[in-house]
Amino acid sequence: MRCPFCGNVDTQVKDSRPAEDHVAIRRRRFCPACGGRFTTYERVQLRDLVVIKSNGRREDFDRDKLERSVRISLQKRPVEPERVDQMISGIVRRLESMGETDINSKQIGEIVMEALARIDTVGYVRFASVYKNFQAADDFDKFVSELRPNVSAEND
Ligand SMILES: [Zn+2]
Repeated sequence: MRCPFCGNVDTQVKDSRPAEDHVAIRRRRFCPACGGRFTTYERVQLRDLVVIKSNGRREDFDRDKLERSVRISLQKRPVEPERVDQMISGIVRRLESMGETDINSKQIGEIVMEALARIDTVGYVRFASVYKNFQAADDFDKFVSELRPNVSAEND
């Protein structure tokens, strides 16, 4: 596994352990060239998913890309990283078990929003605002006000 810091391909595994309720193996890696430490996850991939974008283009499903967008949405939010890992794994399992290899980017967005809404409202709003591509501030305000009744219901 190539070191993400210096590009050295000869990195060492320091520790391996089950993660996310045994659906993944978490490996702590060390790069002897630069001293960098990083983590990799090994997971079962049930099928190769293809994403159909709204413009009709096809691209291989990229878990890392999905994870990046979710993590950006949850930046500085009080959500534990393991919780995010579990959420991403849950989303991927859902996608893999939909029975189709081709999945609409819209479907993925809906599933991500549903999952985010359950763990963090602010993260959900951030993701949704980008995903739904709100162009007018009015739309965004309307969206947030539509969201509010659910928020207060959650707190009851
Ligand atoms: Zn390195």
